[in-house]
Amino acid sequence: MKPIVAIVGRPNVGKSTLFNRIAKKRVSIVDDMPGVTRDRLYWDAEWLNHEFTMIDTGGIEIDSTDHILTQIRYQANLAIDEADVILFVTDGKAGVTFADEEIASILRHAKKPVILAVNKMDSIKDAHEIYEFYNLGLGEPTPISAANLLNLGDLLDAIVAAFPDKSSEADDEDQIKVAFIGRPNVGKSSLVNAMLGEERVIVSDVAGTTRDAIDTHFIKDDISYVLIDTAGMRRKARIEYESIERYSVMRSLRAIDRADVVLVVIDAVDGVTEQDKKIAGYAHEAGRAAVIVVNKWDLIEKDSKTSLHFTEAIRSELGFLQYAPIAFVSALTKQRLSRLTELVKFAADQHAMRVSTSVLNQVVEDAVAINPPPSVNGKRLKILYATQAGVKPPTFIFFVNEPEAMHFSYTRFLENRLRESFGFEGTPLKLVVRGKK
Ligand code: GDP
Ligand code: GDP
Repeated sequence: MKPIVAIVGRPNVGKSTLFNRIAKKRVSIVDDMPGVTRDRLYWDAEWLNHEFTMIDTGGIEIDSTDHILTQIRYQANLAIDEADVILFVTDGKAGVTFADEEIASILRHAKKPVILAVNKMDSIKDAHEIYEFYNLGLGEPTPISAANLLNLGDLLDAIVAAFPDKSSEADDEDQIKVAFIGRPNVGKSSLVNAMLGEERVIVSDVAGTTRDAIDTHFIKDDISYVLIDTAGMRRKARIEYESIERYSVMRSLRAIDRADVVLVVIDAVDGVTEQDKKIAGYAHEAGRAAVIVVNKWDLIEKDSKTSLHFTEAIRSELGFLQYAPIAFVSALTKQRLSRLTELVKFAADQHAMRVSTSVLNQVVEDAVAINPPPSVNGKRLKILYATQAGVKPPTFIFFVNEPEAMHFSYTRFLENRLRESFGFEGTPLKLVVRGKK
């Protein structure tokens, strides 16, 4: 997991200019998310072999009619909640303003490192302007000029030095990490609370690193689960920006990155939306196990065919998630909720499943016998050997005579045979083709 650096500061201090200097590339998936791209919320960056992600909190426009101070408070709180390091940018030519003091007063209470940059210090003769910034009470200010690329190395050194110690973030392999994903108001909070409200569940909010503190841990039937990023779900009122759609997309992507199993929550009344598709697509590409949860099932008038029709519609909308089980639930009436934890456990097991090499090669041999590979450009494919190289998701390497002769439709056929033989329900599979050495 890469550390997150959030940039805060009032308008016109030079945040975008600085951002453009530091950011390496836009996180690719965000490219086709409506709304997100324009505001460039979420970028990858690198300094001296440290990779990190930058959030431009200024890109999150809450409501243009809001007072500037309201916006600034949102930004600062968002940074405090999300970032590992906060980069507070000010304008040395303008000096300390009331808005800067407001931001500083919020950031002083953050238990996160804050790096104070004073921008627009374009030449050495500006140096004395820096002193009044000590009054913000955030430690030593770093003078920079984003426009003239002055002192950015020192600034990045300070940022990187403040990153949390990686070794302290123990990653317990025995835990099943679960992310609830979905648009605002589909019922994620209600589902989380219902899941935790179950009798045989022992809940704990684990103190420790700040990032852990927003996760909820629970144990059921001796299995340990972590619900990722439940801060906004369990203490909703405090997180004012939770309902902003663009922000919720970004947050979903980050939760998916950390999860084993993604619960794609869909509102039964609204059905699958474009945003659901994109986020579920990201989970698929990232190789996470998935369960589709159709919530608010109580609101649907049902006959004997209703769930069948829903299933068909979801299968056609989310074509790439054919492997994901679908659960029809109601957080309100608790209908079928107990099954949800079972499904999570099931999908996690499938995601981590290993099959034996000999059985795997037998299955591949049988598949080839039933349906021999077609020739591509006059070359006929021969599969020499298959092996499972990894789990989460199950990853298979096929050693072949001519990798170019593997057509994607034949890969799909092999995947289907693997699923028929071994199950792998709830998990994507990764099939890799290699030429013989
Ligand atoms: P943002 O609103 O905080 O994102 O600020 P911008 O990056 O859009 O910059 C606001 C203005 O300050 C623009 O006109 C920039 O060209 C200018 N600016 C940014 N960095 C510097 C700098 O280092 N020196 C000077 N003199 N101007 C700068
Ligand atoms: P979130 O934004 O995804 O966390 O959604 P919430 O859990 O806050 O739920 C949004 C609204 O939908 C609230 O008013 C809930 O009471 C309501 N809601 C949640 N689950 C259900 C459900 O299963 N049935 C019905 N009828 N309403 C629900």
